[in-house]
Amino acid sequence: MNAANNDIIQRAQELIDRILAEPANDRDIELVQAQLGRYPRGMVAVGARCVCGRPLAVVTRPVLPGGIPFPTTCYLTGPEAVKAASHVEAAGIMQDYNDMLASDENLRAAYGRAHELYLAFRHELAERLGDSEEHIEGTSAGGMPVRVKCLHALLAQTLVMGAGANPIGDMVLERVKDEFDPSVCRCSIID
Ligand SMILES: [Zn+2]
Repeated sequence: MNAANNDIIQRAQELIDRILAEPANDRDIELVQAQLGRYPRGMVAVGARCVCGRPLAVVTRPVLPGGIPFPTTCYLTGPEAVKAASHVEAAGIMQDYNDMLASDENLRAAYGRAHELYLAFRHELAERLGDSEEHIEGTSAGGMPVRVKCLHALLAQTLVMGAGANPIGDMVLERVKDEFDPSVCRCSIID
């Protein structure tokens, strides 16, 4: 275990400490259900909130009730955030990110670390909840570690884990600022 790995594990543990300190309550679940239009099965906690307090992304357990393996531990729920990520995808920007990954060694390394952090985060969560990772071991989200396939997943990681956790998620957040920004409430679901 090298120093870089230890840093990732420690960061994952700190993040999970924070997540589990404030587990989802009925109000959170109700809001996320309204955002998704379905009950958020396996939701552990709200991982990121709008400045107004409404959920932007949730943390979901590695095994859903009923035994269904669920690799997308950080899941984007805020409608404005979802829309903004979809707009970037529709504009064909994912190809730009893939080209950047192919040509930029430092970016590739940082994206690889984002993948490792995602896995360490889920592993820590699995251990604390007693969930098996048998069917999702080594699988993160969004195309990591070598491709960019879903900006929603990458943006969710950035929102839950903060700036610096995922370089592509950071770029997406910067790019959509005028449309979605966690520090500017543009929430449309009012209840
Ligand atoms: Zn808001």
